[in-house]
Amino acid sequence: MPTYPFRPSSKLVNAETSIFAVMSKLATEENAINLSQGYPDFPSSPELIDLVYKAMREGYNQYAPMPGIFSLRQAIADKIKTLYGTSYDPDTEITVTAGATQAIYTIVSALVEKDDEVIIFAPAYDSYEPTVRLNGGKTVEIKLKAPDFGVDWNEVESCISPRTKMIIINTPHNPTGTVLSRKDMIKLEALVKDTEIIILSDEVYEHLIYDNQEHQSIARFPVLAQRSFLVASFGKTFHNTGWKMGYCAGPAVLMAEFRKVHQFNVFSVNHPVQKALAQYLRNENNYLGLPGFFQAKRDLFLNAIKDSKFKFKPSRGTYFQLLDYSSISAENDFVLAQKWTSKNKVASIPVSSFYLDKTDNKVLRFCFAKSDETLLKGAEILNRL
Ligand code: PMP
Ligand code: GLN
Repeated sequence: MPTYPFRPSSKLVNAETSIFAVMSKLATEENAINLSQGYPDFPSSPELIDLVYKAMREGYNQYAPMPGIFSLRQAIADKIKTLYGTSYDPDTEITVTAGATQAIYTIVSALVEKDDEVIIFAPAYDSYEPTVRLNGGKTVEIKLKAPDFGVDWNEVESCISPRTKMIIINTPHNPTGTVLSRKDMIKLEALVKDTEIIILSDEVYEHLIYDNQEHQSIARFPVLAQRSFLVASFGKTFHNTGWKMGYCAGPAVLMAEFRKVHQFNVFSVNHPVQKALAQYLRNENNYLGLPGFFQAKRDLFLNAIKDSKFKFKPSRGTYFQLLDYSSISAENDFVLAQKWTSKNKVASIPVSSFYLDKTDNKVLRFCFAKSDETLLKGAEILNRL
């Protein structure tokens, strides 16, 4: 291949390869226990896989309708209504997406204009900032304070300016496992109710919430829901992150703008998988057991490392556990995560990667969506550090 003779001007100066790609690649190369990138190492439901196969055999192999098949949108609307109380019209207020990442990208590119400000909470999922930047906006990063990583709403108030277009919230929160409370949501409501600020509520871990807490979806709060996009991921709920399926719900006026972009971004998403999900989602037993299932994994992992030198507070949601390694090493978290993957054969994610300025709190993130065997093997290594 001849080399391109010019130097293209980069639209994402300084962007590095995503930490999730970097750490999973290293874990594979080094044959390490991979507790880094967030995905299960156990199978998705055979019943769901059979439904996809059936849909393919029945001929659902061409483009799906642009916003998603109606039966899936209806099943999503019914689920949201049952769990959180708000009615979304499947015709105009729900769109099926290629995972939550696409929904987030499409929302931002449909609504954020040049020099608009978007408030995010750090540590923050890595796609938010580049997505805002690519679309001409600026992120205003508010740092959540360790060890509880709660939101200081007075600080949020002081960061709101006439240019604030959007606030991105994420509950349960990746990577800290923090969960927003009803009080948090009421404070957010008070801050935005007389403004034109749009909320992007990233709820991909809505069913991964522990210790009998209740998920405070944006859809429980009508005044918030009125000005919000709710983003969800089937990959997280049904153990198949590789299918890249999710959805977005929001009021018709916002969803109309979303679809203007969605149709040119992906047009529509995987048809046979939508057919399968439309049926599978109808059985609430397919997701209501998730808190118990993952809490048992969290507890198994934490119990196995209780005598290690790590300091931790049990994760309250998501399938991530933060471990503070400051009693073991003073090394930079990125350097250490790589070293432990290569030398000790256990991979994690350095939390500094979730900050724009790479704040290093000497904390690593471990994913416990793994078989018990994998978790115990990982714990054995961590106990020796
Ligand atoms: N938001 C958060 C907070 C995440 O952790 C992830 C990773 N799954 C996503 C969005 C993206 O989800 P998806 O894989 O469905 O694109
Ligand atoms: N959400 C997953 C995580 O936090 C990874 C998603 C991705 O690889 N882009 O590990």
